[in-house]
Amino acid sequence: MSLLIQHAHVISPEVDLPDAALEIAGAKIKQVIPTGKALPVCSETYDAQGMRVVPGFIDTHCHGGMGHDVTSEDPAAMPIIAEAKLREGVTSMCPTTLTLSEEMLAKSLRNIEAYRRSPSHAKILGTHLEGPFINPECIGAQNPAYVRKPDMKEVLRLCEISPVSLVTYAVEMAGSLELTEQLVAAGICPSCGHTNATYAQFQAGRQRGLKRLTHFCNQMTKLHHREVGMVGAGLYDDDVAIEMICDKIHLCPEMIRLAFKVKPIAKILLMTDAMEATGLADGNYHLGGLAVVVKDGAARLEFNGALAGSTLRFNVALKNIAEVTGKPLCELIRTTSLNQAESLGIKGLGRLEKGYAADITVLDDDFAVRAVFVDGVRKI
Ligand code: FE
Repeated sequence: MSLLIQHAHVISPEVDLPDAALEIAGAKIKQVIPTGKALPVCSETYDAQGMRVVPGFIDTHCHGGMGHDVTSEDPAAMPIIAEAKLREGVTSMCPTTLTLSEEMLAKSLRNIEAYRRSPSHAKILGTHLEGPFINPECIGAQNPAYVRKPDMKEVLRLCEISPVSLVTYAVEMAGSLELTEQLVAAGICPSCGHTNATYAQFQAGRQRGLKRLTHFCNQMTKLHHREVGMVGAGLYDDDVAIEMICDKIHLCPEMIRLAFKVKPIAKILLMTDAMEATGLADGNYHLGGLAVVVKDGAARLEFNGALAGSTLRFNVALKNIAEVTGKPLCELIRTTSLNQAESLGIKGLGRLEKGYAADITVLDDDFAVRAVFVDGVRKI
């Protein structure tokens, strides 16, 4: 099967080609054809006139949507969430679990694995375990009842059910430095979050391969002029990638601008942290067994007002950073797919170039999703 996407404004990291075409052969991009060149004859064509064509988004931190959580016992939840992600232009994702018992995590991973093996919507790269090895002093909307000590054996038991791509943990907890080394050795990306580590404590992890921060600024040590903490580490250490929830609630526009000003663009990862209310109206919801109230799109724990994930849609996150930073899309587009793929060590994903996966999102001028292709097949 071959597909021609024509009249496309192709935007990919360091690439901006108005009126170009993409030839897709099977699940891969065969060639990018600049304007004026002869077009091949393909079995299918898609006319992207007036549209921006970008690499399919990769959301490495997503808890749910459309009334469902990835940790739900309901096997129908994962496909519903993956379909909603597709409508945001997300072609690959890491379903993200919460701080729960091992038994509950195992059940979640069984449901994730069932979907991962035959995905009909967004693909699963692997699970993101957010917790349970976090600092109870930075609990956020995680459930303190299930926080426990770092235990690589538990991670490996969960991996046997379904691949784990990413683990969020607090580097300052006893046993976390060993966990860092064990995760790196197992090919799992370590990410520091829900943490009150000092800059020095983080450096000990960084020397062992910890190069990623979970929801930058949220539930981590603030920047102080005599102890720059985790926010300071995220801004200062060029080799450290930062996840950012760009809903303009978790991070104010000035913090988004500051990060984009000082960080190498290759180390900024957009994600959603979306919870079950995403795609639905304001009202009462749950996260990890805790009651959540969503008002004006902001999800907060009912009992203390702590932010409880987001209702951010991925295409809106891109629209927000375009508006807030004013930077060109061919720069910003690195933060929606390629950086995520690189942080997980995945090659061949996140660019619209020859040989890359034909995971493609088509956006209009207002960043609304008009079409989505996964492995060369039109899904939306
Ligand atoms: Fe979190």
